[in-house]
Amino acid sequence: MSTPQGTLDLERLRKVLELERSKGYADTAVTGGLDKLLARFESEHPGKLRLPSPSYRALNARERERWIAGVLGLTPPPSKRPASAPAPPKPQRLPKPAIALDAPLTAVRGINTKSLPKFHKLGLGTVRDLLYFFPRRHIDYSSPTPIADLEPGTEQTVLVQIWQTTNKKTKRGMSVTEVTVGDSTGTMKAIFFNQPFLAEKFTPSARVILSGRLSIFKGNRVFQPTSYEMADEEALKSGQIIPVYPLTEGLYPRYLRRVIKGTLDSILPSLPDFIPEEVRKSAQLIGLAEAIRQAHYPEDEISKFSSRRRLAFDELFLIQIGVLAKRRERQEGTRGINLNAPPEHVRRFVDSLPFKLTSAQRRALDESLADLKRERPMSRLLHGDVGSGKTVVATAAMLHAVASGAQAALMVPTEILAEQHFRNISRLLGAQESGDIVCSADSVLGRPVSVGLLTGSVRQKGKKELYRQIGAGEVDIAIGTQALIQEKVEFKELGLVVVDEQHRFGVMQRMALRQKGVSPHMLVMSATPIPRTLALTLYGDLDISLINELPPGRQQIKTRWLGPKQRQSGYEFVRRQVKEGRQAYVICPLVEESETIEARAATTEYERLSKEVFPDLKLGLLHGRMSAKEKDEVMGRFREREIDILVSTSVVEVGIDVPNATVMLIEGADRFGLSQLHQFRGRVWRSNHQSYCILLSDNPSPEGRERLETMEKTDNGFVLAEKDLEMRGPGDFFGTRQSGLPDLKMARLTDVQLLELARTEAIRLFEIDPKLERPEHRALAREVTRLWESAREEG
Ligand code: ADP
Ligand code: MG
Repeated sequence: MSTPQGTLDLERLRKVLELERSKGYADTAVTGGLDKLLARFESEHPGKLRLPSPSYRALNARERERWIAGVLGLTPPPSKRPASAPAPPKPQRLPKPAIALDAPLTAVRGINTKSLPKFHKLGLGTVRDLLYFFPRRHIDYSSPTPIADLEPGTEQTVLVQIWQTTNKKTKRGMSVTEVTVGDSTGTMKAIFFNQPFLAEKFTPSARVILSGRLSIFKGNRVFQPTSYEMADEEALKSGQIIPVYPLTEGLYPRYLRRVIKGTLDSILPSLPDFIPEEVRKSAQLIGLAEAIRQAHYPEDEISKFSSRRRLAFDELFLIQIGVLAKRRERQEGTRGINLNAPPEHVRRFVDSLPFKLTSAQRRALDESLADLKRERPMSRLLHGDVGSGKTVVATAAMLHAVASGAQAALMVPTEILAEQHFRNISRLLGAQESGDIVCSADSVLGRPVSVGLLTGSVRQKGKKELYRQIGAGEVDIAIGTQALIQEKVEFKELGLVVVDEQHRFGVMQRMALRQKGVSPHMLVMSATPIPRTLALTLYGDLDISLINELPPGRQQIKTRWLGPKQRQSGYEFVRRQVKEGRQAYVICPLVEESETIEARAATTEYERLSKEVFPDLKLGLLHGRMSAKEKDEVMGRFREREIDILVSTSVVEVGIDVPNATVMLIEGADRFGLSQLHQFRGRVWRSNHQSYCILLSDNPSPEGRERLETMEKTDNGFVLAEKDLEMRGPGDFFGTRQSGLPDLKMARLTDVQLLELARTEAIRLFEIDPKLERPEHRALAREVTRLWESAREEG
């Protein structure tokens, strides 16, 4: 943004610093860096501010953060308002609005039956929709960059006059439109590809706004526009900042602007603000009408920023209020079991482990144990990237439940995973040799702990006996698939329920398990690295323990995408790793949502690889149509290193833990989503060996290509999740059914600070008026209902 015009008072400076803070202290809040602005401030208000020494630019991010916090008065945190009732705000006296917000668009001047369908096409149905139909971007007619000041590389906007336009063709037949443009400071060439019609539009002396990048080509300045717009002469004269709205065929920019401007002018003066005054003050928000106006017609970058901040806050705040209401509904009247065993048991268990817990694991465990001791049932999300070691934390919590005389249940999405957990947990608890479906471990409790395995394919006879043992309390820890929530399973005293890979279950399945006990404590684990903001939003009704640290010694995983010509070298690489004593997975392409077809494809691939590619190595096959016994047997052989390469469908996606496997080769990798690819990769990221992920893809779509490149670039699950979210949107990310989130227009899921602020404010408001019954909260209550209902309809 450019340096704000006019006098630079502290308030303005503060806003710039806030902007700088929101941009991560990269010295990008103002063009040319903050130091220039600070010098100006110092000259206008000598001695009023303690300037950073020697300069802002010279500080590192932490020092910058500290300095800005000092100026903004962020520490100590703003004084808390007493929890008691605040003085009721003055009732808002506003003129009656000309049209109701919920009125259909036909009530708006300028919209008629002919243009109406076009508005519908843009998803606009009511007057409110129009107010909230925000521009994609703005064109700043007040200060376009002069040609002479253009810098190569960054996206910039110029206002230029057309001198000459010529169409050419390249040798490969591509059309190139070369436009010579100029302003009072100079001229340059702008180049457009494959838009020959521009020659007619860009008539000499026409004025256009171009956004794009400058490059220097053979010593010449060449501008490559990413967008263009014929200049609006009226806006030019007044030097305004003009909104650019998303368009649809037959809707023209100027018409749409006029309609929206008219609506703003007639509605905004009488628009009530549904955010209670005390919240607005404490969160330092501008008023609603002002925010909406500035979103369309901002005065400058700072007001654009405050406007977005306010409107984004609204969205997040309403979601938080809704989530808190849900949480309260659930907790009201429910009492759990307090699990009061002394802490020694868990301590001894932790000491018995072959490794030291990471501090993140320890923290998560402490948080869970503190919850278990309370009567109020725990609802906690244990959230950590693949391989961060959630299982052992859950095991310790389950052991605590058992030590307190209750039972625990662990529900997982697949049989393979259930079996793996059964084996690992039995071993962690001290069992020498695990039985088939019930295993008794000589635990640190001083008495054996019995662990039971319940999956869909446990034989009928064994199952009956298992039901009985669970009912009699003879099984302390039951591990299983959805079979655990079948009607017939009754626990004697279920104290703790753990759900692993929670994102794979529907919300209803999670709830069903909860109803098995009085009101057991619940710990849900997710390896889907959802961004923290999204976690707070989606799981706002849960408390969150974050395991943000991997066990020590893990190496960075190396990921390469190989094209068709490099396929052979990929196979050679696998062979070399096997020769070094490691093992590998080969994942077959996603065929269809049919396990049968997928199984067949995997079988074919297995045969091809065994005969043609790796005839000298030992291969195994795993797919969803195999019986649990067969799967278990194959997994067992893989674990025991009797198999070098496991050819598998996506069934190994979740949870599988074989530390000696170091190569993950994924066929048709572009067909999988980012989160899923990351899950696969997590399978070979479990030991201190260097691990590799090879992505094979012959002909990816542009999005597929972007996913593969992203995978190569980062191994941070949270970064990937952000990217996935960006590419797919939150609805898709979770499947709409599970998301149930209202549509976000202004808020970004990366707005961590704002989200936390919204959450804090929502919690505080809830303490004062949980049902939003006070007169001054009524408008807010209506807005919450409206938003969640619209989410429900869409979901
Ligand atoms: P996830 O969080 O993906 O479920 P797991 O619980 O399967 O991860 O743990 C991954 C691997 O890391 C396992 O082999 C486990 O034994 C090991 N592990 C867990 N915690 C630690 C630790 N603190 N130090 C070393 N290894 C650990
Ligand atoms: Mg796991």
